[in-house]
Amino acid sequence: PEYEESTEHRRADVTYDDIGGLHETIDQLREMVELPLRYPQLFTRLGVDPPRGVLLHGPPGTGKTRLARAVANESDAEFFLINGPEIMGSTYGESEKKLREVFEAATKSAPSILFIDEIDSIAPKRGEVQGETEKRLVAQLLTLMDGLESRLNLVVIAATNRPEAIDEALRRPGRFDREIIVGVPDARGRREILGIHTRGMPLESAVDLHELARTTYGFVGADLAALTREAAIEAVRRIMPKLDLESETVPPEVLDELVVQRNDFVEALKRVQPSAMREVMVQA
Ligand code: ATP
Repeated sequence: PEYEESTEHRRADVTYDDIGGLHETIDQLREMVELPLRYPQLFTRLGVDPPRGVLLHGPPGTGKTRLARAVANESDAEFFLINGPEIMGSTYGESEKKLREVFEAATKSAPSILFIDEIDSIAPKRGEVQGETEKRLVAQLLTLMDGLESRLNLVVIAATNRPEAIDEALRRPGRFDREIIVGVPDARGRREILGIHTRGMPLESAVDLHELARTTYGFVGADLAALTREAAIEAVRRIMPKLDLESETVPPEVLDELVVQRNDFVEALKRVQPSAMREVMVQA
């Protein structure tokens, strides 16, 4: 409520258990972000500065935002979010102001994590690609990063799927000088992600998540989440003829019958494409 949609502040509720695959990524995040946030004295004793900025790099829908929320939650830190493209859309001067306000709020609430999604839209490489708004925003962001006290337990995590497209000045020491790769899940990761998204779903015993994981090559977390949602909608469709649309309630016996079947996933697979594929199809 304090901010508009381009920014957000609330206590994150996801944990590492809500993330499928990405075990090494989580280990790296714990070491680079959780540890310094929880035990800053370790770094003080050694006389080294804990990381201020971490860049998460990976394709869309692989869980970067979810990871940032989880690490905030597990570190008992407040979570602040800035959405790159949305903050760019603000009127002259408004974007920088919003950026400053979020940094200020995050500083006040430390320990905190400030997450900047799609940082490439705020800070593309300087030169022709940068318009006036970008120039001012990059300059503002650099100033804010440099102004962070090293002793403060605030970590800025930025996400991008095009690390080569962001302004090099952002990658200098003391800014976003650490990089963590968030990769596309393998079959095991996909199995874990499917498990997470079907946790609360009654499944017919014929639904084989291992098999489903094997047949969803190229699907990222967001695709798999969409697939399980689509399968659930299929199950609802199947039950529709048994519903009395005049009535306001669903009879318990109909509700009991509402179970997601193997075939619901087969149907869902016809409609949900892996997002990497969609890009290929759009380009073709
Ligand atoms: P973008 O770059 O498009 O912002 P992202 O990498 O930040 O994507 P998220 O927003 O974290 O991806 O993920 C989108 C949704 O996909 C999540 O809300 C979650 O439902 C699902 N998801 C993605 N990755 C995972 C994962 N590794 N484990 C569980 N769920 C996942």
